[in-house]
Amino acid sequence: MNWQSLADHALAGGVPSREAARAVLHAPADETLALLDAAFRVRRAHWGRRVSLHVLENAKLGACPEDCGFCSQSSKHSSPGGEAPMKSVDELVAGARRAHATRAKRYCMVTATRGPSQRDLDTICAAAEQIKSEMEIELCASLGILTEAKAKRLVDSGVDRFNHNLETSERHYATIVSTHTWRDRVETVQIAKRAGMDTCCGGIVGLGESEDDLLDLAFALRELDVDSVPVNFLDARPGTPLAGYPLVEPAYALRALCMFRFVHPRTDLRVAGGRELTLRALQAFALYPANSIFTQGYLTTGGATAHADHQMIRDAGFELELASGETVAADPDAMANLPTRRPSLPVARS
Ligand code: SF4
Repeated sequence: MNWQSLADHALAGGVPSREAARAVLHAPADETLALLDAAFRVRRAHWGRRVSLHVLENAKLGACPEDCGFCSQSSKHSSPGGEAPMKSVDELVAGARRAHATRAKRYCMVTATRGPSQRDLDTICAAAEQIKSEMEIELCASLGILTEAKAKRLVDSGVDRFNHNLETSERHYATIVSTHTWRDRVETVQIAKRAGMDTCCGGIVGLGESEDDLLDLAFALRELDVDSVPVNFLDARPGTPLAGYPLVEPAYALRALCMFRFVHPRTDLRVAGGRELTLRALQAFALYPANSIFTQGYLTTGGATAHADHQMIRDAGFELELASGETVAADPDAMANLPTRRPSLPVARS
């Protein structure tokens, strides 16, 4: 396979064939750098050498009535994750200030829920209004299933983007989740889009999916025309049905990111949860296909500090993109004294 031809095709606006996308997943180890170089040409054409940082805020932890097999926040599993009530507006605004201090482009408030209650929505919207009046940062919310009316409230409060992942193919989804369907998720993404929000919608590699499931996911997201694709790698949580599933091989993770870049040439492609554990020493290579990362950890698990991420970005010769649209140098020294954010500390279940 000629990886540069694949890049030429993507740069000309073409969609790779399914077989070309499959070939990326099978690239031999000797061709890893050539593949990354081709994916980087596509990434650079649309995103330059810019990397945007995103910070997650677990606004409401655990006790979720859904049964997603990979998630330690489901009340259906016996994960030792605990639960915590909805954070206050002040706490959410304080989280945004901490995110802003890391030079994050985007702050994402997330609740473990089937869909937002009126009360939780009020809190998210009040926090969004205050954050937008106080600082320049883009806002994302991930609150489960939406209605048109709830989506409109989010837009009116200043939420720029809504996250709702498809996670995997429609076929495989039914083996991982039984309390809602893959189609339900597609519908929420469409509601968010119709309401005028950007859409962030990706998946998880390592759910025991077949290669065809991963390809189906990539092409389904292209059809949905989402604005942002987070690619997570399973970090199997104790007590979930997927406990004990192995980490994805780092070289395969890089090939998967390259495949997503060729299928989504212009999209904000994020190397998301599981980055540190899965890629280990190869993390910086992910910046060649992907243009954004989460910093300071995830919803229930820790991750790299802002200091380490700024250092990686600077060392690899990339720069930061801010919400203002400005591009600035990564500055690990300025991050050295920031408090390390820990994932939401659980209140033990009684
Ligand atoms: S809906 Fe979200 S929080 Fe609830 S179990 Fe599924 S992934 Fe976890």
